[in-house]
Amino acid sequence: TVTPNDLRAFWMPFTANRQFKQDPRMLVAAKDMHFTSSDGREILDGTAGLWCVNAGHCRPKITEAISRQAGELDYAPAFQMGHPKAFELANRLIDIAPDHMGHVLFTNSGSESVDTALKVALAYHRARGEGSRFRLIGRERGYHGVNFGGISVGGIVTNRKMFGTLLTGVDHLPHTHLPGKNTFTRGVPEHGADLADELSRIVTLHDPSTIAAVIVEPVAGSTGVLIPPKGYLQKLREICTQHGILLIFDEVITGYGRLGAAFAADYFGVKPDIMVTAKGLTNGVIPMGAVFVTPEIHDAFMNGPEHLIEFFHGYTYSGNPIASAAALATLETYKEEGLFERASELAPYWEEGLHSLKGEPHVTDIRNIGLVGAVELEPIAGSPTKRAFSCFLRAWEKGLLIRTTGDIIALSPPLIISKDQIDQIIDTLRSVLNEVD
Ligand code: PMP
Repeated sequence: TVTPNDLRAFWMPFTANRQFKQDPRMLVAAKDMHFTSSDGREILDGTAGLWCVNAGHCRPKITEAISRQAGELDYAPAFQMGHPKAFELANRLIDIAPDHMGHVLFTNSGSESVDTALKVALAYHRARGEGSRFRLIGRERGYHGVNFGGISVGGIVTNRKMFGTLLTGVDHLPHTHLPGKNTFTRGVPEHGADLADELSRIVTLHDPSTIAAVIVEPVAGSTGVLIPPKGYLQKLREICTQHGILLIFDEVITGYGRLGAAFAADYFGVKPDIMVTAKGLTNGVIPMGAVFVTPEIHDAFMNGPEHLIEFFHGYTYSGNPIASAAALATLETYKEEGLFERASELAPYWEEGLHSLKGEPHVTDIRNIGLVGAVELEPIAGSPTKRAFSCFLRAWEKGLLIRTTGDIIALSPPLIISKDQIDQIIDTLRSVLNEVD
């Protein structure tokens, strides 16, 4: 058992530490769809960890690849030399990426991938002699990690207000959540694409030749699963193309099968210039991110066969051998088990289950896309987040892990989930909703 003394040094500002210290919830093992808690209970993973364990937990193929690689070549400097697995992985990623993508930069997380993408976008314009393009446009309620670039373009004011001016020249599009209009919409909302016109307004306001890039999550995840209306992403693409602005998709959540396609870019049929990924790349097992760019972007940094244009960027762990081995084994698992197709096949069943919760106490909206879902609750007056957090605690007692963000329950199970396990998630949520105040 865990004593308060065991917990004294650990600091995770994101979590309500004091509350956690009074009531520690510990995970000690995991297998496939389940965690084991320190009190010996099986906990069904309704969130794929933090939207990352897409192939389920402790998959032998992945863990064996990691231990094999750790015993063979544990580390190789990524500067001026390489090792085969990183090159193999980059090629493999380009094989599964949308056709127009050409090259991959490796990072160690979603946050690093976001900042990498923003740096690539800014440097790309300079490499082409368009140094006047310094503005970046994010979106309200966008989450792009915790590094300085990511919180600047991110649309969550509380995440950035403690840190001064951050990046300058950042503007934000309105978010795509239309209360009242989106209510209980199944899948992609039909209306609201005109929200993308706000980009035209921002472009006119600032002069298009000053704008470097627009970054959006194709589906905003961490702020409550906000699904863009039909045609919205296409419109963003059109406006960006018209003005020479790069479009960046942050696919940290949507990448690697979560929507039932390899990437959201495939799902929505929209071609971003840069794609930011992490999480599902290694099944969440080892930190790694990958940023995809088009050949045009890559080539802008090249002058003939030599790399002549300065662009200093790269990490000690870029393309780390163990992470590369984990990613290769993960991609093989996705392919062998057809997990992206599986997510697509299960999506209608998932949708039916989730929407059967309409009418249960406190529920004000339900949203779904691929194997992602959100159940939005009426907040308790004066105590926002309390009701959803009570649901989290009650679900934990009943052996189900959910995630809450504000008063929204967010769900994203591993793609290996069975129909019975979907039923179990829905049944547990139904009883939780009927038990909490
Ligand atoms: N972008 C998005 C869309 C995310 O959901 C996250 C993490 N939830 C990040 C970036 C940051 O990733 P990380 O926590 O790996 O830095």
